[in-house]
Amino acid sequence: MKHQARKRFGQNFLIDAAAIAAIIAAIKPAPGETLVEIGPGLGALTRPLIAAGGQLNAIEIDRDLAHALQQEFGDRLKLHTTDVLKFDFAALGSDLRVIGNLPYNISTPLLFHLSEDTARLRDIHVMLQKEVVERMVAAPGDSEYGRLSVMLQYRFEMEKLLDVPAVAFDPVPKVDSAVIRLIPWRPQRALARDEAQLARVVTAAFSQRRKTLRNSLRKLIPEPVFDALDISPTARAQELSVAQFVALADYLAGHRVSAEENTS
Ligand code: SAM
Repeated sequence: MKHQARKRFGQNFLIDAAAIAAIIAAIKPAPGETLVEIGPGLGALTRPLIAAGGQLNAIEIDRDLAHALQQEFGDRLKLHTTDVLKFDFAALGSDLRVIGNLPYNISTPLLFHLSEDTARLRDIHVMLQKEVVERMVAAPGDSEYGRLSVMLQYRFEMEKLLDVPAVAFDPVPKVDSAVIRLIPWRPQRALARDEAQLARVVTAAFSQRRKTLRNSLRKLIPEPVFDALDISPTARAQELSVAQFVALADYLAGHRVSAEENTS
């Protein structure tokens, strides 16, 4: 099919057979599994996924591409022609294996969207901009460690699988890519009492990442609380583990409850 790549949909199609084979080998799709491909495009990953015999759902925003895919794969592909950020994954059941060579402009919101309901996910394999993958797997103390690392490491065990150079795509993008695997923690480890408080404290700490926690969290955490939690008030956000952020969030959750109790 002749298709003019649409920039607004982040269309860079995989054309390198070795990269495609390496991604499929990492996923190991098997018959009986519920596979969900995000942004199938011209079908580079769709074809081998269908050949592996799983039941394949695909979510594609581009109507022309969706039409062509449906023509090619017929009943073997359950196509949802919509924006994945608005898609309700609950409609597909559970134990989902999500796969995608993602448009880079939506990769972070999409990962947060998938984080909302990890109970129905078996795993996720996605191709992303290499720098984003490096931020996701960064450890405390690394310069790339930030909000994305903490919020995703809280939910998922993650492993970078392979690098994919820009020349593996058509059109050639400006950046290199990498494939990463995310598996939801089972059971969820270090569960925060209130996840909204976790998001709040992580966002506040990293929005002023050069400041000490004493300063960046001044409005949220009274100084003696740092000592009680064995966290140095002169540390910076970049040095804190996920568990330490959870401890700060739990303080906020408890503090909020007691503040509400005091007023009742
Ligand atoms: N998977 C194909 C491949 O590897 O060659 C295409 C990858 S291309 C980087 C991204 C694909 O995601 C395109 O087909 C694009 O139309 C689709 N897409 C972009 N934004 C989307 C969205 N919000 N929801 C669903 N699909 C989207």
